Amino acid sequence: MRLTAPAKINLYLEIIGSRTDGFHELAMVMQSIELADEVDIILSGDKRIQVSCQNSQVPSDNSNLAYRAAELMGKKFPDAFTKYGGFEIQITKNIPIAAGLAGGSTNAAAVFVAVDLLWNLGLTQGELQEISAEIGSDIPFCISGGSAIATGRGEQISPIPSLEGIYIVLGKYKSLEVSTPWAYKTYRTQFGHTYSQDIDSLAVHSGNMVKAISKKDVKDICQELHNDLEKVVLPEYPLVRELRETFHNAGVLGTMMSGSGPSVFGICESQQQAKEVEEYIRGKIPNMDLELFVTKMVSHGIQVTSHA
Ligand code: ATP
Repeated sequence: MRLTAPAKINLYLEIIGSRTDGFHELAMVMQSIELADEVDIILSGDKRIQVSCQNSQVPSDNSNLAYRAAELMGKKFPDAFTKYGGFEIQITKNIPIAAGLAGGSTNAAAVFVAVDLLWNLGLTQGELQEISAEIGSDIPFCISGGSAIATGRGEQISPIPSLEGIYIVLGKYKSLEVSTPWAYKTYRTQFGHTYSQDIDSLAVHSGNMVKAISKKDVKDICQELHNDLEKVVLPEYPLVRELRETFHNAGVLGTMMSGSGPSVFGICESQQQAKEVEEYIRGKIPNMDLELFVTKMVSHGIQVTSHA
């Protein structure tokens, strides 16, 4: 079975407060993009789970989220594991790693979807999402994808109207990685005193962004872009700050860091403008370590592209 596993960007990321489980309470607006990994998964016929990837930076042991997804399904459904056996999982990595684009989470999401089908489990999307949240907060969104509000620690998903077709340019320094746990820990140290005690009144937080999305008013959406983690990542990583400024100077409708970074996106009026922005940034930052992608928002998460 071959699946497409799209990356995501965060149009909105607000840190509301602390939770008793040690995570942060979040209010996010997540958006799938066309930039995607390809995941091939076959039944191995024995009890092994094997993961491989053409990119040597991606782990092939049980620290790979795709591996952990298969392992978790084996634990949850031992009879199916015995009946059908394990998997060989092959990841073709196109999504930059440790970039705030949920690369690992979307690979895991593809495995959850595939295992459900290959083992004939007949789970609903909601059931798969609930299981997947045990190993990563971004995985439930990656399964359904499109445009959605994510609350709780990011695992509670409510779909919102689609923004399909809006072009973005994405920039990421290949050798620059930001650890997500570091970003949240630093935020807690520096801004913990501002945390809201009233974490139940979440509906209001991303309200203006959701209104703009409902109207598909791209200019309004760009006014409402927000990411609290920029407050800790931009001061620490001057290259990311400079990249964000360059996006701004390129005349994009809006620009923001995605997730815990270091990738930065710029929202464009058209494919033509996106290509011009890419060229402008390439001219201003002639650093071969900087990868740029012209891509667009899509209305889906994991898709099965072929099934033998
Ligand atoms: P998020 O936006 O969910 O925080 P990210 O895009 O910042 O994720 P990933 O690309 O998932 O980050 O990679 C973070 C780390 O996870 C990597 O350094 C890598 O060691 C590990 N990892 C585990 N599984 C995978 C995978 N399938 N693909 C890429 N990295 C993985």
